[in-house]
Amino acid sequence: MAAVALSDYRRLVIKVGSSLLVDESGRLNRHWLESLADDISYLQEHDHETLIVSSGAIAIGSAVLGINKQRARLEDLQAAAAAGQVQLVHAYQEVLSAHGIRAAQVLLTPEDTENRRRFLNARGTLGRLLERSVVPVINENDTVTTEEIRYGDNDRLAARVAQLVMADALILLSDVDGFYTADPGTHPDAELIPEVTTITAEMVAAAGETRSDIGSGGMATKVQAARIATHAGCSTIIASGKIDFPLHALAATGRGTVFRAE
Ligand code: GLU
Repeated sequence: MAAVALSDYRRLVIKVGSSLLVDESGRLNRHWLESLADDISYLQEHDHETLIVSSGAIAIGSAVLGINKQRARLEDLQAAAAAGQVQLVHAYQEVLSAHGIRAAQVLLTPEDTENRRRFLNARGTLGRLLERSVVPVINENDTVTTEEIRYGDNDRLAARVAQLVMADALILLSDVDGFYTADPGTHPDAELIPEVTTITAEMVAAAGETRSDIGSGGMATKVQAARIATHAGCSTIIASGKIDFPLHALAATGRGTVFRAE
């Protein structure tokens, strides 16, 4: 059953994780990014407004600076983020400009979404960009945030952004194609749940320990993000990003899980 009807939603926040964008050696998957830019162009032509929340800065920057992420200190990771972010956003700018689309870099810290005055300010800025059909490419400002004051994972950041811009849908592109009854990696009989109307404690528990190696999120952070966004009136979709043209595919097949807005 196709649960996800992309045409129902106008303003979309699309979250791209490091594991989709960057390979094991920290190299950017340019080919995939070009297909995503094609998707964005298609969505804009179909009257969607799009914002991208993208990870990848630390993964790319660690390769650039020769930093071993496992043994790195906070300052090393922050330096990696600084070096990686410039390359990340440059790549987005290049692939989007091939479609005549302008990109803008927006770096946020939790204070920007949790302090009322800054929240309104960020909302105003993002609104201006969308009015001009500019695609904001958003990441956490990793260079200045420390462990205690971080969003920590970009799923949560993306949920906060969705709330900030009053998005109609938050799309979490993932290395799995939806939310399953159990971890499909270890349970071959696990089934995809196409639609969720209420996020229960059991679902949070089932989201459990699935983790990907490159990014910091897993299914648990996705369900938590869905909780934040649906509570704010924004439906949340988990769909596969492991394929080229992931949003074309989502529009065509509707395959994924939608957590309905409350
Ligand atoms: N903000 C981090 C980065 O760009 C990634 C956080 C995450 O993986 O969720 O590298």
